[in-house]
Amino acid sequence: MAADSKPISYSIVIPVFNEEAVLPVLLRRLDLLLARLHGPAEAIFVDDGSSDSSPVVLQALAKRDPRFRYIGLSRNFGHQVAITAGMDAAQGKAIIVMDADLQDPPEVVEQLIAKWKEGYDVVYARRLSRAGESRFKRATAHLFYRMLSRMSSVGIPADVGDFRLIDRKVLDALRQMPEQDRFVRGMIAWLGFRQTEVTFHRLERAAGETKYPLSKMVSFAADAFLGYSMTLLRFSSIAALGLLVVLVFVAIYSLYAWLYLEVTPGWTSLMISIIVASFFQLISLSIIGEYVGRIYLSTKSRPLFIVDAIKRSPQTERPAASDGFDLHRQGGG
Ligand code: UDP
Ligand code: MG
Repeated sequence: MAADSKPISYSIVIPVFNEEAVLPVLLRRLDLLLARLHGPAEAIFVDDGSSDSSPVVLQALAKRDPRFRYIGLSRNFGHQVAITAGMDAAQGKAIIVMDADLQDPPEVVEQLIAKWKEGYDVVYARRLSRAGESRFKRATAHLFYRMLSRMSSVGIPADVGDFRLIDRKVLDALRQMPEQDRFVRGMIAWLGFRQTEVTFHRLERAAGETKYPLSKMVSFAADAFLGYSMTLLRFSSIAALGLLVVLVFVAIYSLYAWLYLEVTPGWTSLMISIIVASFFQLISLSIIGEYVGRIYLSTKSRPLFIVDAIKRSPQTERPAASDGFDLHRQGGG
């Protein structure tokens, strides 16, 4: 078929974890979508250790139709890792990540592609509304996105999930980020490039139930905040500063009481020792925090910077090997 001969234009990456209920309708809609796209396209299903019939169905499909590919992970590694595995295998010039449950409508993919053709490297889909989700999920998601986009240092947009399109060059840069705790949307925000959004109304799950129980939501949020906000790290510094004022007042009061009021013998010295000791502990913790933060950042082994484009006149001949992405590798030392 077409996918065999011509280079692939679009790769659609779909993480799948126990989604047998939704697969029939997903496959029908995907088939229609692939037919509408102008250019050869592939859909890559990443089975994230499903225990239902999803792997059987998807493997059979991949065998009979070359537009569909199947990657089975050896166990459940989680949504973010599944996405990463799928993107690693993608061959397209544009790579689209989409959930299996059709909460991300496949029709929006065409809008993502239209923006990409305008020249954007990252096109994310922002949710204007969310249907069919519990009040708890909506409230926690609302809070999560607001806090994260305020506290993050790289401008992670609010109400944006992993439903997005990235250009090949963004994927190549993303693959240079070997970090363990993967929060893909944060990593893509960190990368930069020309980013834009399209908006959509998030639909109800077409079938089945959410595969994100509270425990997974909590560890997901932890990855986001620990990886993309310095606020938690600076907690002891902030506490030290905040308490400094209080501690100084308490110390002054203790001295005043010792001089002019009746106090139990020993109270003043006890107060002053506690205040001095707590203050030095907070200061030491914040200094250690800063060091740990720097060590944490270095262990991520991210490139120092990402080159988007290099322009020079054709006369300046240089060997291609010292070009582009490889340059900054030396920076990690
Ligand atoms: N998923 C996955 N591994 C997991 C959990 C979820 O691959 O451990 C997939 C799931 O099959 C779906 C996508 O990630 O395609 C989003 O999950 P879900 O729809 O359950 O999350 P929600 O929309 O409820 O936040
Ligand atoms: Mg969903």
